[in-house]
Amino acid sequence: MQNTESGQVPSLLHSILRGYVWMIALLAVGITAVVFTTLRSASRERAMEDLTRSAYALVPAVQSYITDSTSAALNSLVNEVATTMDTRITVINRDGSVVADSEKDPDEMENHRTRIEVIAAFNGVPGRSVRFSKTLGREMLYTAVPVVIGDSITAVVRTSLFFDSYSAALQPIVKEMLLIILTALVVAVISGWIISRRIAGPMSDLASVADRVRRGELGARAAPGHTREHNSLALSLNETLARNENLILDLSRSDSRNRAILESMIEGVAVVNRDGDLLVTNDSFRDLFNTGSSEIKVPAELAELFSQSSLPSSGIVEFEGKIVAFSSAEVSDSGDYVFSFRDVTAEVHLSEMKKDFITNVSHELRTPLTAIKGYAETLQEDASGESSDYLKIILRNTERLIALVKDIQTLSEVESEEGTCRGESVSVSDILDTVLPLFTSRAMDKGITITAEQITPNLTVNADHHRIEQVFVNLIDNAVKYTDSGFIQISAAKKGNQAVFAVSDTGRGIPREAIPRVFERFYVVDRSRSRKMGGTGLGLAITKHIVEGCGGTISVSSTPGQGSTFLFTLPLATS
Ligand code: ADP
Repeated sequence: MQNTESGQVPSLLHSILRGYVWMIALLAVGITAVVFTTLRSASRERAMEDLTRSAYALVPAVQSYITDSTSAALNSLVNEVATTMDTRITVINRDGSVVADSEKDPDEMENHRTRIEVIAAFNGVPGRSVRFSKTLGREMLYTAVPVVIGDSITAVVRTSLFFDSYSAALQPIVKEMLLIILTALVVAVISGWIISRRIAGPMSDLASVADRVRRGELGARAAPGHTREHNSLALSLNETLARNENLILDLSRSDSRNRAILESMIEGVAVVNRDGDLLVTNDSFRDLFNTGSSEIKVPAELAELFSQSSLPSSGIVEFEGKIVAFSSAEVSDSGDYVFSFRDVTAEVHLSEMKKDFITNVSHELRTPLTAIKGYAETLQEDASGESSDYLKIILRNTERLIALVKDIQTLSEVESEEGTCRGESVSVSDILDTVLPLFTSRAMDKGITITAEQITPNLTVNADHHRIEQVFVNLIDNAVKYTDSGFIQISAAKKGNQAVFAVSDTGRGIPREAIPRVFERFYVVDRSRSRKMGGTGLGLAITKHIVEGCGGTISVSSTPGQGSTFLFTLPLATS
């Protein structure tokens, strides 16, 4: 866990200074301790050597005195020499008894045979010992050397001194050293303070800039630094801050722009998350669904839509008598969805009215047209000469009108059915068996053949039987109409989950520039010829509507003078 409370974290200045002072203090104590111990042990070694030398210097005198066995004379010699040398001198006999001592009466002194330095000397080597006198509370140094007379060691001369009196000479040096170290410590602390400030100062400047930016002062910038590192850090920080400021300004501008776009839209827009909660709405949405502007409650009709596991990309919802069309798109990063809603009630009503109107008009027109056609046919039976020609014209035009009315009605029907193709399992060979005979005699009259040999057996498509029949009729009818010689070929094959159909002819073909337009309503390439053939210009528009309404696609390729091929697809029946 990060500690973000600046009050609980020591400042950089204090951290550096504390570490610095600790380091200097440890060094000072360490150096003092090492120097003092080294000096002390060097001076102790020196004192020992001095003591040993003094003891050896006494040996000749002790040799001569000890043979006379005049202990009083030896004692006074020892006292005299000890005073001059500021050392205690003791002469110890072979049995350990003290013969002479410069500080005490030898008779009162205990046997010294067991003293370490004495044992060593009686073994023929100089002995040394350091002992702490508990009674005096002082450290004493002892050396003992053998006094050899003839072949044997008859006595031992021992010299000793209080080491503190010897090491007292070190005190001025130690004092001076302590003074120097103390001065160095004070200087180090002051320079440490200055250095720490120089290191921590720029950091706290930069930190204060960052803090100002955090509090919303986007224009805050760091002052140039006094060192290369500080300066480059300040420059980088300023550059980043400037970039961020621009970015934030751009974002806020773009946000305001998006808000304005959203509010200006006629369509109601809503953004919902995966839980179906509304995240963003515009005024049009709130008006459309009568929601309050403060706390927006999702209407039940929409809640049902938003809660679907896979949200539809378009559709219709009904809300309080209104018909509302919607489309949706997923926001790729967040998984939210954007919905746009449009009130299409008026359009739906209008299209229903149009459809009703067309149905009524077609019906009303077809009855008198059929009557006219009937009477014209009857009259023609007895007519001859000019009147027969006139009747032929009347008949042809009446038939065109009937065909036109029929096509207009069909187009109106397929347009209103768009996207709602009745999915039945339709057998392709059944359709062709019904459709092909309708054209046999016309094809024979024109001397062209119609073949349907390349048909994948048992091919079934998911479509509307009646409508698909109409597609084949329209395409084969056109092929027969616009082909004067050669043949018409029909094929059907499986491709993935689609059935692909082709109706090819060796007719007159379609000019390049007309190809993109042939599926438009009332578009005909050659108006007079089409009229002569009884064409309405609606056949391909109807065909395209039916194919696309059933989930397929249609296209045409053609070479003028050589023929045309109409390709269309339909989804295969699922079972
Ligand atoms: P029409 O009732 O006039 O045939 P369509 O919508 O069926 O109307 O066709 C539009 C136009 O496309 C036709 O007028 C014709 O010029 C052209 N067309 C359609 N099919 C063919 C074809 N198989 N060969 C040549 N031209 C064609």
